Amino acid sequence: MTLAEARLRELATDGAASLADATAEEIMHWAVDSGLRLAVAGSMQDTVLVHLASTVLPGVEVLFLDTGYHFPETLQTRDRVAASYRVHLRTITPRQTVPEQDEEHGVALHERDPDLCCALRKTQPLDEVLDEYDAWATGMRRVESESRRDTPVVSFDERRDKIKLAPLATWTDDDVAAYIEKHQLISNPLLAQGYPSIGCAPCTRRVAAGADARSGRWAGTDKTECGIHL
Ligand code: SF4
Repeated sequence: MTLAEARLRELATDGAASLADATAEEIMHWAVDSGLRLAVAGSMQDTVLVHLASTVLPGVEVLFLDTGYHFPETLQTRDRVAASYRVHLRTITPRQTVPEQDEEHGVALHERDPDLCCALRKTQPLDEVLDEYDAWATGMRRVESESRRDTPVVSFDERRDKIKLAPLATWTDDDVAAYIEKHQLISNPLLAQGYPSIGCAPCTRRVAAGADARSGRWAGTDKTECGIHL
């Protein structure tokens, strides 16, 4: 059973005030100590947050949104994480398979209406599964893009009436690299192949060294987010 909205709002306000300068581990501990039913969103771009959460809360539930369009390397990373980390990995799928979506909306909806495609294959499945939880944690970081520059470490997710945590919000790229090195984490092989930000294969491009990490996502369009963080 999940906590009532009013209680979650109160906790989010308290957490935002007390955890602004907290470490990622402290933020995760706060969620556990507050009695929140917590899920971690794991895109399998990297496995930092999933690993960190597993050290604080062994058996933590990790949600992987399987859009049907992922790179094989991303699915392999998910499978390696499920086999190696102390997590309960849940693969969440859209209501329709890709062929079913093609039949209803036409093939390659991502080329014609990526916002609708993301809504059907990412946002809606996440919204539905988060009904089971009080809070969710994401790996969003402020340095990733201009649109993420003000990411709070704790907030109330008005769209879903849940608490949203971004324990890595203040981490730099060097912080991430140091954590990966220290814990010898499983990595998505695409990171070393010019893909600093990894989403669905049709909507992810390689980027030049030093370019905005998210510039390879929906390249050539003005879309910058899939919608789950809006
Ligand atoms: Fe569809 Fe592209 Fe969004 Fe994936 S990232 S859900 S393929 S529009």
